[in-house]
Amino acid sequence: MADCIFCKIADGTIPADVVYEDSEMLCFKDIRPAAPVHLLLIPKTHFDSLAHAAPEHEALLGRMMLKVPQIAAEHGLANGFKTQINTGKGGGQEVFHLHVHILGTPSKAV
Ligand code: 5GP
Ligand code: ZN
Repeated sequence: MADCIFCKIADGTIPADVVYEDSEMLCFKDIRPAAPVHLLLIPKTHFDSLAHAAPEHEALLGRMMLKVPQIAAEHGLANGFKTQINTGKGGGQEVFHLHVHILGTPSKAV
């Protein structure tokens, strides 16, 4: 979508600190981190929010959910992490391209 900042990150027009990428999703660091680890996982295809997800997105959303703990573990969050999907203005959504926040504090090495 032309004016979507996350589409521009997905196509490389706007730079981001990318930590994971495959053919259908991209994960990058949030520009204003709210936790020591704060990542955003987005589908490369644009849809505005969870409320705009269609049946064709079902498998993609499932694969994204399965990717979350893998990415979290790679960032030291094997002990646990928070996920957040803000949906709509009432849900605090500011960027209208679906994204999953992954938040946490890396556990100390023992
Ligand atoms: P929302 O409130 O829509 O769920 O969250 C949007 C998130 O995107 C915010 O945490 C904000 O810091 C992040 N963000 C907004 N613009 C950019 C950007 O250009 N680059 C990156 N990496 N993150 C962004
Ligand atoms: Zn978009």
